[in-house]
Amino acid sequence: NKMVYSFGQTKTDGDGSMKELLGGKGANLAEMTTIGLPVPPGFTITTETCAGYYKEGRKLPKGLMDQVRDAMARMEKETGKKFGDAKNPLLVSVRSGAKVSMPGMMDTVLNLGLNDTSVDGLHDASGSARFALDAYRRLINMFGDVVMGVDHEHYEAEFDRIKAKYGVKNDTDLNAEGMGELVEAYKKIYRKYTGKDFPQDPYAQLEAGIEAVFKSWMTTRAIRYRQINEITGLAGTAVNIQAMVFGNMGEDCGTGVAFTRNPSTGENKFYGEFLINAQGEDVVAGIRTPQPVSEMPKWNKAIHKQLLEIKDILEQHYTDMQDIEFTIETDKLFMLQTRNGKRTGAAAVKIACDMVKEKLIPEKTGVKRIPANDLTQLLLPSFDPAAKKKAAPITTGLPASPGASVGKLAFTAEEAVDRSHEGELVILCRKETSPEDVDGMHSAAGILTSTGGMTSHAAVVARGWGKCCVAGAGEIHIDEKRKKITVNGKTLGANDLVSIDGSTGEVFVGEIDTIEPKLSGDFAKVMKWADKYRTLKIRTNADTPADAQRARDFGAQGIGLCRTEHMFFEGERITAMREMILAETKPAREAALAKLLPYQRKDFEGIFTAMKGLPVTVRLLDPPLHEFLPHDAKSQGELAKILGVKPAKVKQRVAQLHEMNPMLGHRGCRLSVTYPEILVMQVTAIVEAAINCAKKKIKAVPEIMIPLVGTDKELEILRDLAEKTIADVKAAKKVKGKLAISIGTMIEIPRAALTADAVGQHADFFSFGTNDLTQLTFGYSRDDVNTFLPHYIQQEILEKDPFQSLDATGVGQLVETGVAKGRSVKKDLKVGICGEHGGDPASIAFCHKVGLDYVSCSPFRVPIARLAAAQAAL
Ligand code: ADP
Ligand code: MG
Ligand code: MG
Repeated sequence: NKMVYSFGQTKTDGDGSMKELLGGKGANLAEMTTIGLPVPPGFTITTETCAGYYKEGRKLPKGLMDQVRDAMARMEKETGKKFGDAKNPLLVSVRSGAKVSMPGMMDTVLNLGLNDTSVDGLHDASGSARFALDAYRRLINMFGDVVMGVDHEHYEAEFDRIKAKYGVKNDTDLNAEGMGELVEAYKKIYRKYTGKDFPQDPYAQLEAGIEAVFKSWMTTRAIRYRQINEITGLAGTAVNIQAMVFGNMGEDCGTGVAFTRNPSTGENKFYGEFLINAQGEDVVAGIRTPQPVSEMPKWNKAIHKQLLEIKDILEQHYTDMQDIEFTIETDKLFMLQTRNGKRTGAAAVKIACDMVKEKLIPEKTGVKRIPANDLTQLLLPSFDPAAKKKAAPITTGLPASPGASVGKLAFTAEEAVDRSHEGELVILCRKETSPEDVDGMHSAAGILTSTGGMTSHAAVVARGWGKCCVAGAGEIHIDEKRKKITVNGKTLGANDLVSIDGSTGEVFVGEIDTIEPKLSGDFAKVMKWADKYRTLKIRTNADTPADAQRARDFGAQGIGLCRTEHMFFEGERITAMREMILAETKPAREAALAKLLPYQRKDFEGIFTAMKGLPVTVRLLDPPLHEFLPHDAKSQGELAKILGVKPAKVKQRVAQLHEMNPMLGHRGCRLSVTYPEILVMQVTAIVEAAINCAKKKIKAVPEIMIPLVGTDKELEILRDLAEKTIADVKAAKKVKGKLAISIGTMIEIPRAALTADAVGQHADFFSFGTNDLTQLTFGYSRDDVNTFLPHYIQQEILEKDPFQSLDATGVGQLVETGVAKGRSVKKDLKVGICGEHGGDPASIAFCHKVGLDYVSCSPFRVPIARLAAAQAAL
């Protein structure tokens, strides 16, 4: 049972394809080693070993430490150093790394293998006592914190005390003597809070370190991160043990992180930050603000040149933008990590287009590489430049993650969560963020920090989510306790609105107006590619001419769902609607409906006109009637007055219409079966609107859709009635020739899907209403699902919310059956889907697979659907 995979000059077992088993970090360390880049040697303990650890009730699997010792022996040989040695000790880092990168979620311990003897060895080998002691105190700190759970603050307090004693301000200014004192102080803290001495046996350190990484897989914050990002189905984290290299040995050392291209805009320019004389996490943690790599030549030209060469090698090799970590030990460069870099939607689009242009990737790969959902970010509004000019920023930070967001200031993650749950828009304002803050960051409209660079925690996490972030706005002084900030003489508190521009780093007081995005350039190119490869048509759900127009602009090829019920709520229409519902005789109902007809006709004319010859599927009235009625005494009284009846009468009728389960009650086609005059009015309005458009030389292509059909008989009856109505209107309006109006149904009741061969006899098209179909298949009330669904996701009973992403296994079976049976009686039956799923990339892939003709989604998701449909086809 192989649990350990080595990488190094003498032996490399893994490669870049083995992310599942070795985690992303481990697989890429092996890959970089193989392609000849300077990587300190090490080995990776597999993710399966982590699963084994939990399976055995949190115990390290048998035989693991033997394999670890063998691998360590090889590293010792390769480096010529010995673990725990009194002369020239080998030190290692213990690093986590799952298949999917989870920035900052799991902890790293550096400098493992130092103890009271090997610290002298490190002193001898490096020639610097200060450096050796600095490394040792970092180990006692990190080991105590990460492995033993000793609060970091205790160490911090001691550090401050000793710095004060030696009269220095910066960590780097403390001399060897001070460092020695610090080591002793840290050991005392360790003893005080763990009840044990700091372990002197290097293998005991290593074993505990490995176990700590395994444990970090199940910390609340790691679990939460996976939840928010919908990461499921992973075995666990791998552990990487790697020989240490030192960026903190002096002014000719350093450490840094970089992206091979700009992760915010996509610009093809090496982009990153480094710190001189620093170790590892100093850059990411935002403790000191690092310098941009463009400044590196001033410090070390040769290293800068070598980095640029490595950048090219990595991009050529991975054919994607890379996010790298590196360290320079006395003028020698080492690579510590590479992975495909997280990027904003805008950067994803630009990088894909550029890489196609550079012939680094073929066009199809470019299409596949852009996460369809991330296009949302490009469709977001930005601040109006004119409004910005008038406002003038109070300060400017780093443009860490693009976007325009406005909100009131929140000072802690908890506060951000609470206030945004209450519907407030907040900007989370912190000195810096840490993994504990992710909930608050996620719920905030935007993130603002006063320290840290472009690769600080806040920036990386925000970019991953496409959330607006301004980082390192150093002029802001935050007083978390009093909940206020001061910046350039201005004081702002929790009730003050600020606007932050993540594309420029500007911070404004008050609310700045926003403008709609332009969809040209690279975005248009990607859309053109998508249209070339996709076979699914994309329609939209729209009920108003404005929505229809917007969807057309986004490239919709028709309306897949035009709901008619919204049209009954506006202005005086609702009164006519209520009159119709309250009527007790057919003539009274018809009289009320006659008042509604002109409104409805006008609505349809508007929509047909906006769609200029593209098909428009109009769904006949769907919701239960009682939704239209007034439910409190006051409004019932008002209605009674308007209608000239007694209030008691209204009250009685409302009571009569009450249903125990309205969503399963008198609604959908059932309304037209009992009150055919409703259908007649709606179909009349549709046909008259089409005729009016034709007179104006506007082509209208209405499709009449009958909702909530469960039996073929329902559809048969209603189709006959609709056809008769069409004929009547034509006769009345003296229209000759054919009117192209097709009649179809929604498939949203499981029985309709199961009997689709019978239902299909009477339908020109099917449209799967997957919202209701999901509700009825699972038996989950869509409106009450939040009481239990989060638990179901957490306990992995369900992988995803089935109302957001189509359940391929269950509901999908009904869709497949419906399509097959429907087309068994009508070969060319047109089939689509409307409902939330039509804009979800995973669901779109499913729709493509089962051979639907189109998906229909909300206007803003049309570009996403176009891209997702292309990705499904490739
Ligand atoms: P994360 O996944 O949070 O980025 P890493 O395992 O990459 O954690 O470690 C954090 C940092 O620690 C790295 O960016 C690197 O600078 C430093 N580090 C890790 N291993 C070594 C090593 N062997 N030598 C020097 N620095 C290291
Ligand atoms: Mg890292
Ligand atoms: Mg429905």
